[in-house]
Amino acid sequence: MSRYRFEETHRRTNKRPMTNPNVYALLNSHFPADRSVTCMEPPHGGMWTFADVETESARYANLMRERGVVPGDRVAVQVEKSPQALVLYLACLRAGAVYLPLNPAYPERELDYFLGDAEPRMTVVRPESVNALTALCERHGTGEPLSLGTHDDGTLIEASRAMPDDFDTVVRAPDDLAALLYTSGTTGKPKGAMLTHANLYSNAKVLHEAWGFRKGDVLLHMLPLFHTHGLFVACHTALLNASPMIFRPRFDAAEACRLLPRATVFMGVPTFYVRLLGQSGFGAEHCASVRLFVSGSAPLLEQTFEEFRERTGHTILERYGMTECGMSTSNPLDGERRAGTVGFPLAGVDLRVTGDDGAPVGPGEVGGIEFRGPNVFTGYWRMPEKTAEEFTSDGYFRSGDLGTISEDGYISIVGRGKDLVISGGFNVYPKEVELLIDKLDGVVESAVIGLPHPDFGEQVTAVVVRESDATGPTEQAVIDALKADLAGFKVPKQVFFADELPRNSMGKVQKSVLREQLA
Ligand code: AMP
Repeated sequence: MSRYRFEETHRRTNKRPMTNPNVYALLNSHFPADRSVTCMEPPHGGMWTFADVETESARYANLMRERGVVPGDRVAVQVEKSPQALVLYLACLRAGAVYLPLNPAYPERELDYFLGDAEPRMTVVRPESVNALTALCERHGTGEPLSLGTHDDGTLIEASRAMPDDFDTVVRAPDDLAALLYTSGTTGKPKGAMLTHANLYSNAKVLHEAWGFRKGDVLLHMLPLFHTHGLFVACHTALLNASPMIFRPRFDAAEACRLLPRATVFMGVPTFYVRLLGQSGFGAEHCASVRLFVSGSAPLLEQTFEEFRERTGHTILERYGMTECGMSTSNPLDGERRAGTVGFPLAGVDLRVTGDDGAPVGPGEVGGIEFRGPNVFTGYWRMPEKTAEEFTSDGYFRSGDLGTISEDGYISIVGRGKDLVISGGFNVYPKEVELLIDKLDGVVESAVIGLPHPDFGEQVTAVVVRESDATGPTEQAVIDALKADLAGFKVPKQVFFADELPRNSMGKVQKSVLREQLA
């Protein structure tokens, strides 16, 4: 491992040993001295120790190298959550590759775009997808995909068994890319957010400190691994703390009630909290060992915040972040956690709320949220113009979210300039759905909005103008047509028909009017 290499270098040159800025090397330097302690506890036995994480990630990294992956190459991964999937991420870091996680819900059409845009050197998919995706991978020059299942199976596992179980973690510079995470936009075309080793590690350190991670912490991990929240926020803080993670493939409210008494920290999207409250009998006794509940990725309703406090005695800590920047703000660990707010900027983050003229607005006034800091990404993959548009001349990133800052500094998110719908913690960019609806026979145009939903937070809803009611598609026909091309969470749950869409004087569809009419 790099540590030993540096020690050797130190002996030979008698210079101070440097630290490898590779985020894996930095996380690894915080692994417990006794590597036999638990790192991940999967559902059906087979504990993963920190030693296992080291040796298994070394095998995968050796395999990547053998398959021609060199530092800077992208490795695309569309697999179900498992301990091996997290280890694969760590192995990519060790090999100096750029990790590109993809939601398993993405169908082939969406993968086609990601593989074409990112040009990965290697692709790892679910065993059951290999046949369907081999031609696509070969067309994009990434070769036959490797596979990784959830039962320690797949060609990645088989091939890695013959690999050595040690690997010198590749030295990367702080500004080298560690991960490429796609996020859609108002144009409907997903953009790859380029995150560096320094982005990831600085955010991990800041959150570890801000949320008071301590000896004895145990994280209940039920978030997906293809998103910032579950992958970086949750795993990095736990790894940095050398804490065990109770690792579950997905959120399940009954299972969470059963496991919470063994955890001290829980992180979730608001939907998780709504569902926990939906469990009859859920209350303080389930949460007796927990010291911190964190919520983010979508707005937490004040009603949920209050009800959770009444039922459990715990005040959920809400934070705010995004793919491009990791976490930017958080309610305080000590001090008032205020409902409906996302707290204060994290250490090292400069945050401002500006008006249309670019100047900061006064307390309580709504404006665009902008920030800069070590957490902020370096730009969108191969989109220098788009990147330039999203940054101000003095280096602040325009988040696209609208917010306010109170007299005493609490930040609230009041809307989304970018029109995003967040359903069950997953982002849906209306334009992407609208473009597909508009292509259907008999459709003139469409607007996709989010309507309040008690469980998902928002429900994807379409309003469609047809050429004629008699010949245009029915609600079911629209839904069925989209299912083939879009991940399930993006498909509208309801379709309304209208003679025309409301527009403002500039011709822009007034989605706020639609939301009011249909809510
Ligand atoms: P993502 O890039 O998937 O992490 O989504 C980022 C977007 O989620 C942000 O730009 C916000 O619009 C939204 N978001 C994240 N956290 C919160 C929060 N605590 N409250 C309201 N919106 C949030």
